[in-house]
Amino acid sequence: MKKLLFLILVSLFMPDHGSELQAQPKFKEGFNQNKAIAHRGAWKNTGAPQNSIASLKAAIELGVAGSEFDIWLTADSILVINHDADHNGMIIEKTRYADLLKYPLKNGEPIPTLEQYISAGMKQRKTLLIAELKPSKVSKERGLLAADILMETISRLGAEPWMVYISFDYDILKRIVQRDKTALTMYLNGDAEAVRLKGDGIYGANYQYRFFQQYEEWIAGAHRLGLAISSWTVNDPEIMDALLAKNIDFITTDEPELLFQRIAAGR
Ligand code: MG
Repeated sequence: MKKLLFLILVSLFMPDHGSELQAQPKFKEGFNQNKAIAHRGAWKNTGAPQNSIASLKAAIELGVAGSEFDIWLTADSILVINHDADHNGMIIEKTRYADLLKYPLKNGEPIPTLEQYISAGMKQRKTLLIAELKPSKVSKERGLLAADILMETISRLGAEPWMVYISFDYDILKRIVQRDKTALTMYLNGDAEAVRLKGDGIYGANYQYRFFQQYEEWIAGAHRLGLAISSWTVNDPEIMDALLAKNIDFITTDEPELLFQRIAAGR
């Protein structure tokens, strides 16, 4: 029995050359099938503030596969969308949501709550919502609490079909998978081997482009395990081309318009 289990485990992790022919991972059927993920929405060429609902709408308008945004938990346990740990100098994790509202974004939008952001994204069904949950600077436990509140919110809204989850905190991703076995998760920190991701039910690796420059065969190896591979944050056309040549699945960029041009040029 032990031997059988061993053989099954080995076969799970052995590179299977037959599977090189398998279809490339796709996020989800029915959504845009391209390689572009807009980083913090489409803001650089549109004038919309990063992580605003306007930047999400602009990304949807562009037709990207996914639009990424960042999530923090306020002191009174409201999930809000913002990149930095602070909003106008107020540390989000130590500030109540009502106080964050004192400073609107530069287009006049209030700092979006997760619920408002997801609800806006659910008005369409072409662009996926790539949710980056920031690791807590307060405590590991508070990061996991944020993951629990995130998943409760997604469940309440019925937003599962739109969602992909990313984080630099491996335990946050494991908590998400624990709560929803079908959740698509990608790890950002570049320090986990493909076999570990696969074993933990993580959908893929979303690593900085320098990682793939250093480990040139990594994408092919991870593809053999069936992982989806993405890279951040790629704004240089030559680096885009190099990653596309390695058959990367997704590229996170501040310049989705440029990425679409490079994809078209490579055809
Ligand atoms: Mg982010």
